[in-house]
Amino acid sequence: MTPPMERIWSGWRAAYVTGETGELEGSGPECLFCSLPGLSDDEAYIVERTELTYTVLNAYPYTSGHVMVVPARHEADFEGLTSEEGAALFAALQRTVGALKAAFNAEGVNLGANIGRPAGAGVPGHVHLHALPRWSGDTNFITAVAEARVLPEDLRTTWSRLREVWPGPAS
Ligand SMILES: [Zn+2]
Repeated sequence: MTPPMERIWSGWRAAYVTGETGELEGSGPECLFCSLPGLSDDEAYIVERTELTYTVLNAYPYTSGHVMVVPARHEADFEGLTSEEGAALFAALQRTVGALKAAFNAEGVNLGANIGRPAGAGVPGHVHLHALPRWSGDTNFITAVAEARVLPEDLRTTWSRLREVWPGPAS
């Protein structure tokens, strides 16, 4: 990992906790989601790369298996994605749901996007989609957020678990 990338990575993690992400809204090397693909899969916890998308673990998950599906191209607006990118994102979400069911015995999955800062986007400059596995009787969303620091397994274990079961074309 090069020093500049390390700065971006740790800087984003601090910003994610404090909610101050203004410096990460730029494109290119200043954007987290443009920077992550420059890391190796096991450094960035990327579970899949395709031509138009990549799928990566959230470093501060609401629950184990919290995955983000990201367009490879820097685009802030959901409506700015091309139909090809939309189709690729949807297909990646389908593989993600399948993998979450297989890896975690998920009984349900939340899919969603926080578009723009008022909607809660941590990185508002680069649109991305969230997928969270759910189980009968698990905590509700607010409780999950409040207990975000108490995780049943580390990110590397989650990453390995998802890679083992990942359906279809993976990297
Ligand atoms: Zn970007």
